[in-house]
Amino acid sequence: MSTAPPLIQRPLSSYRGRFAPSPSGLLHFGSLVTALASYLDAKHQNGTWLVRIEDIDPPREQQGAATEILKTLEAYGMFWDEDVLYQSQQTALYNDVLSYLAKQKLSYRCRCTRADIKALGGIYQGHCKHLAVSEKNSAIRLLNSNVVVQYHDIIQGNVHCDQALAAEDFTIFRKDGLFAYQLAVVIDDIYQGISHIIRGCDLLEPTARQLSFFQIINAQSPQYGHVPLVVTKQGYKLSKQNKALAIDINNPQSSLIQALDFLGQSPPSELVTSSVENIMQWAIKHWSIDKVTKTTQIMLTNVK
Ligand SMILES: [Zn+2]
Repeated sequence: MSTAPPLIQRPLSSYRGRFAPSPSGLLHFGSLVTALASYLDAKHQNGTWLVRIEDIDPPREQQGAATEILKTLEAYGMFWDEDVLYQSQQTALYNDVLSYLAKQKLSYRCRCTRADIKALGGIYQGHCKHLAVSEKNSAIRLLNSNVVVQYHDIIQGNVHCDQALAAEDFTIFRKDGLFAYQLAVVIDDIYQGISHIIRGCDLLEPTARQLSFFQIINAQSPQYGHVPLVVTKQGYKLSKQNKALAIDINNPQSSLIQALDFLGQSPPSELVTSSVENIMQWAIKHWSIDKVTKTTQIMLTNVK
């Protein structure tokens, strides 16, 4: 029996970044900021930039959103270097990894309900670890044998996570039969040889889990950088769930300048009358990740 994980990681010797939206809605200003940061960081370092559509949660998806997201990225001057990867086409690989983890006793099935876990304080305590649950409609959890509580973030510096949360045996396959985000994202980051992940601060805590996962399956982990979240005057994060307005596909210039400003890049004001191509050329050349504010969220009063 082979003990090697069923996926081969390419050496992380060159810069490979990615933007990985879920097609649950159109791109809003918050997603523009993260797409732009990952794109500029990759291009400034002559790296490869990839787009991955995280379409493994059909009930939350919006028909046609994936196509619209790609069209918007192009209109904003962000062109990907390899074929777009759709997670819905990675099912065989995810299943191979799940089988491998089960064989290596690195995972176990769990029949606890959300209410059970909530009653015990909200963090899973490993109740099913030794119960040999076999029901098909149960979740699968990763045996978190390599807990990561702190890590270095390219933008935020040292990040410390909640110990109990970081140590949780988290879900990698859902009770409802869908692959969990943590499984798909880590497997695809390995599969695509991603070396740098620039994304929003809503993923600061999940990063600790993902770093544990990389170590558990003996893969080299990428470097992470988390940009501040865009929050509204009322303190809400812009998200597809709270129906943040889509960015205008027909007038990219002003949103691009606003996003560059948000990222601390101080674009010259006359750039707003320039073409998208010129704006992006300026932005790639002048990109400095050190100028991104080391804070987890920034309120924008003028974001529509
Ligand atoms: Zn359980």
